[in-house]
Amino acid sequence: RAKAAGKGRHVIFDSSMQVDTLARLELENDLRAAIDGGQLRVHYQPIVPLKSERVTEVEALVRWQHPTQGMISPLDFIPLAEETGLIIPLGLWVLKEACRQAAIWHAQFPIDPPVVISVNLSPRQFQMPDLAEEVERTLQEAGLPARYLKLEITEGTIMLDVEATISTLSRLKAIGIKLAVDDFGTGYSSLAYLKRLPLDVLKIDRSFIKGIAENAEDKAIVQAILLLAKSLNLEVTAEGIENAEQAAMLNSWQCERGQGYYFARPMEADKATALLGRLGLSPLPRVA
Ligand code: C2E
Ligand code: MG
Ligand code: MG
Ligand code: MG
Repeated sequence: RAKAAGKGRHVIFDSSMQVDTLARLELENDLRAAIDGGQLRVHYQPIVPLKSERVTEVEALVRWQHPTQGMISPLDFIPLAEETGLIIPLGLWVLKEACRQAAIWHAQFPIDPPVVISVNLSPRQFQMPDLAEEVERTLQEAGLPARYLKLEITEGTIMLDVEATISTLSRLKAIGIKLAVDDFGTGYSSLAYLKRLPLDVLKIDRSFIKGIAENAEDKAIVQAILLLAKSLNLEVTAEGIENAEQAAMLNSWQCERGQGYYFARPMEADKATALLGRLGLSPLPRVA
């Protein structure tokens, strides 16, 4: 807004900026209280192999149940958490909660193999010097074998410091954790580096999936990513599948897995528990 005041004028703040700053400060304080005060929730969104449509994996997605503002989307507080450093306690809480829940599901349901839990890591979390130790301790406390945890990082996180990324990913890999690149295609990761990283999965960003049925460029991009993944020996999960046509196209292109509203929206733990209990090994009843 200071910019809109025009060239050559040194506007430090106007009243609307002040409100923004105050609102931000309030939000930051609220978020701090939310982490300790039990206002965070984890929702779970199923991920399915496109061939079977059975739930083999769920992504943990944080939500904030604000006392007066209702449910707040992570898009509205993760950036603030990242800026302020609150992402560290917040992220550890999500990781603990997700691992705890996954261990309960494993004990409760005789699905073979057990469901994998996928957890997002922000750039700052990924740069924690003791990340691998924290993750290992969390797994031990939850009683969850490492092979049932997948961690998602973005291309931006990878490229912050490639040598450090390689070393951190290698440590996580040594524990037995699966590693995924989230929102693939939207960042600027170098293909030369991708080859050197001990990754398991590329998650194609939903902005490319959206247009595959109508748009030749989107189709070409997605097919190119599938080819790249194959040659790098990586599996692929397509994000944001919203209809049958997209699911069928991706399946015909040998894309392994899909995630999106067509299969299921993110849901509360209770609902996910009911779903896993009901489904066992049967395919997901899709919601259109
Ligand atoms: P993401 O990791 O790429 O997660 C997928 C997002 O896409 C989720 O949004 C999910 O609800 C949404 N989505 C899934 N299927 C569809 C679909 O078919 N159509 C559309 N339009 N959207 C779909 P959500 O839950 O709002 O999360 C947004 C982002 O916030 C996540 O994107 C992730 O980057 C971040 N985030 C969420 N939870 C955490 C967390 O615990 N830690 C960190 N560091 N980031 C998180
Ligand atoms: Mg993700
Ligand atoms: Mg994603
Ligand atoms: Mg995305």
